[in-house]
Amino acid sequence: MLPMFLLNTVDVGLASLGVTFATPTDPTPLPAAHWVGANETLRAELALPSALWRDQDVLQLLSGNRVPEAATPYASVYSGHQFGQWAGQLGDGRALNLGALHTPLGWQEIQLKGAGPTPYSRRGDGRAVLRSSIREFLASEAMHGLGIPTTRALCVTGSPALVYREEAETAAVVTRVAPSFVRFGHFEHFAAHGQIDELRILADHVVRTHFPALQEKQGAARYAAWLQQVTTRTAELMAQWQAVGFCHGVMNTDNMSVLGLTLDYGPFQFLDGFDANHICNHSDHQGRYAYARQPQIAYWNLFCLGQAVMPLIDDQAPALAALESYKTTFPTAMDQRMRDKLGLIGAHKGDRALVEDLLQALQQDRVDYTVFWRRLSVAVRESAHSNFAFEPVRDLFVHREVFEAWCARYLERLGAAHRQTTGDAMLRTNPKYILRNHLGELAIRQAKQGDFSMVQDLLQVLQSPYDEHPSFEAWAGLAPEWASSIEISCSS
Ligand code: AMP
Ligand code: MG
Repeated sequence: MLPMFLLNTVDVGLASLGVTFATPTDPTPLPAAHWVGANETLRAELALPSALWRDQDVLQLLSGNRVPEAATPYASVYSGHQFGQWAGQLGDGRALNLGALHTPLGWQEIQLKGAGPTPYSRRGDGRAVLRSSIREFLASEAMHGLGIPTTRALCVTGSPALVYREEAETAAVVTRVAPSFVRFGHFEHFAAHGQIDELRILADHVVRTHFPALQEKQGAARYAAWLQQVTTRTAELMAQWQAVGFCHGVMNTDNMSVLGLTLDYGPFQFLDGFDANHICNHSDHQGRYAYARQPQIAYWNLFCLGQAVMPLIDDQAPALAALESYKTTFPTAMDQRMRDKLGLIGAHKGDRALVEDLLQALQQDRVDYTVFWRRLSVAVRESAHSNFAFEPVRDLFVHREVFEAWCARYLERLGAAHRQTTGDAMLRTNPKYILRNHLGELAIRQAKQGDFSMVQDLLQVLQSPYDEHPSFEAWAGLAPEWASSIEISCSS
């Protein structure tokens, strides 16, 4: 028997807390299921059998067509704030937790996204479409490849079964993997219902399982320390998103992980041309979740979490102190990320101005964010033995004189740094490959025709985004003209 069938739904995860937290729910079969994408890297990391992708039982299991004997799949209840408003009860409307696996990465929850309705589906059909499933699959692994905390994705299975969004599309299921899928919204749910015992059970569970160092603290001190750690992790995650140009698109509190993982890939986008005000979600009319606002929104969301766990902390002061640490943790993390991108050693007074002026120059000319950093890294390395090294960077700008003035300041700041070594470090910090919208779109178009090779190739390239992949050089290039017309909505 394969380890997949040894899923533990009893002793670990929310299931261990009983039906208040985990509602037993069977998946709905997915007709004529077939493989769409297989993540061989993650398969190996989880030490799952190498024959996994050839195993019909596994295909059926991960499509929701077969429930392992020992497993009791469940959906969990949570609530949350959506677009700044209290939205009340939400819950796993289309995600079913199969259970947890003991792996070399520790206990990992296995979740099927799109496996049919649950008690929390509200008006939804419990399904996910092929398009958004491929996007989540690739984005999860792209983020992981970039070194950014995220839920992972083991595979996507597809089906000819139709589901209806703006138009008829085919259904798919993503198998997600994470140590926990617990969200800020889980805490908000029990707090909103005045279920303080449940709130404490949940907090103790999360601390015991994922923050064991805090267990020695008792009572209010434990929960305040935990809030502090979630704050720190969230601040660091935001710095990583901003540094790489990732826009999440739907930073509702129900999409925020208490482990500080990137969670729930919907209308996300990696920036092409730099625009601080970029809004990737076409349903976000106010631009609440615009790129530059993400760190502020995360802070707002942390206050929702803080509010929810207040009954456990009692005293406002330690809770506020935990939350307010964000005001130093985030800028410190952000400054460090940007210095790393620039190859700057140590912290100097003028560094922030250097970064701000650069971003302004990028913004003015909508310079491609990823190409810029990569070319800058190459230029620094080449400048060890060339006087023309920065020309390819300058050529990205319309206002070349603005770049040249900035570059002079930058070189002064770099000073006598060993250019070759600095450039090499920058190449390990500034990715060559990101999941650009148009690349995902091309992979999706081909997949819709039954050709999954681009999904697979893209996965492989994105898993090592700092490396050169000479056969896929075109994927490192600027987005084509048509990329700006791709509309990504919440419907997925
Ligand atoms: P999202 O904006 O994707 O994070 O989803 C917000 C809420 O809507 C969550 O409770 C989801 O489980 C639920 N949801 C989204 N799409 C569907 C769907 N097709 N069927 C059922 N529930 C859904
Ligand atoms: Mg969600």
